Amino acid sequence: MHKIMKRRNFIKKASVTSLGIVAGTSVLSGCDVNEESNKSVVTGTPVRPLVIATWNTPDEVEAAANVLANGGTALEAVEQGCRVAEANEKGQSVGKGGLPDRDGNVTLDACIMNEKGDYGAVVAVKEIKHVISLARKVMEDTPHVLLAGEGAKQFALEVGFKAENLLTEASKKAWEKWKIKSEYKPIINIENHDTIGMLAIDKEGNISGACTTSGLAYKMAGRVGDSPIIGSGLFVDNEIGAATATGLGEEVLKTVGSFLIVELMRQGKSPQEACEEAIGRIVNKPGKNYEDFQVAYIAVNKQGETGGYSIHEHFSYNIFKDGANTNIKSDFYNKG
Ligand code: ASP
Repeated sequence: MHKIMKRRNFIKKASVTSLGIVAGTSVLSGCDVNEESNKSVVTGTPVRPLVIATWNTPDEVEAAANVLANGGTALEAVEQGCRVAEANEKGQSVGKGGLPDRDGNVTLDACIMNEKGDYGAVVAVKEIKHVISLARKVMEDTPHVLLAGEGAKQFALEVGFKAENLLTEASKKAWEKWKIKSEYKPIINIENHDTIGMLAIDKEGNISGACTTSGLAYKMAGRVGDSPIIGSGLFVDNEIGAATATGLGEEVLKTVGSFLIVELMRQGKSPQEACEEAIGRIVNKPGKNYEDFQVAYIAVNKQGETGGYSIHEHFSYNIFKDGANTNIKSDFYNKG
């Protein structure tokens, strides 16, 4: 396992800027909001290493960047980055502390893809916190790609994962409050959500991605969203780039959003243009029902150009590149 460096010790030795100039030593400055631009920047030299992740995720991205700085692969980086969110009990959309389904059970979904195009996923898993690592085990140690529910948990226990209660007091209280009215409708918090979709490029230029979530709060038992489903919540093609999603999974699933974005990049679109077109496929459906839900995408291409786009305001994503870990406010479709 790679040593995780402390933020203050994370010294950039030398890197190539977007203009191809070798930059000097600088210290990772943490997480600055860049409101000016979220358009992809065309560079002559591929940007690497690079990490991009959904929402305001400086700690997760830093953990992934540290793996890459220590010579780790993109696959190791996205796994370690996602584990930070899964272990954070305060986050109510990922791992321990995730909001439960309507029966009070926390069930987790995750998937991972490497540069070879291999994929592993688990869905509707109870009592196992680090489902991203379990998804990796499915990918690497089984002849299958997707394990569900009890079978996934059984496999987890067989390979050494520990079962634990994932429902924290805070999430239990929130569920009990919800139960008073038990209004069942998909709830997507437009302002702040933290399902983690993470993409990374390592120093070899290889791309991997990972996605981990507790899914929609108070979902029906057995409901699975886009996050663990290849092509919807995540897709990686090492020749082209990668994309990942967050938001109302049903809409992402119906448009196979992440695969669509990678295919659009293959046809020559920038990551930004591809994300915008994938959101377009959702909002241009008849009925304009997009006003009630959020969907957002991030993407990166082989050159290390990035993009992000959402239906509504308040989506942001973190990018680590050229030694800086920056939170970027996403451009969005619904400007009123
Ligand atoms: N996409 C996730 C799901 O539908 C939820 C989210 O990203 O907020 O399960």
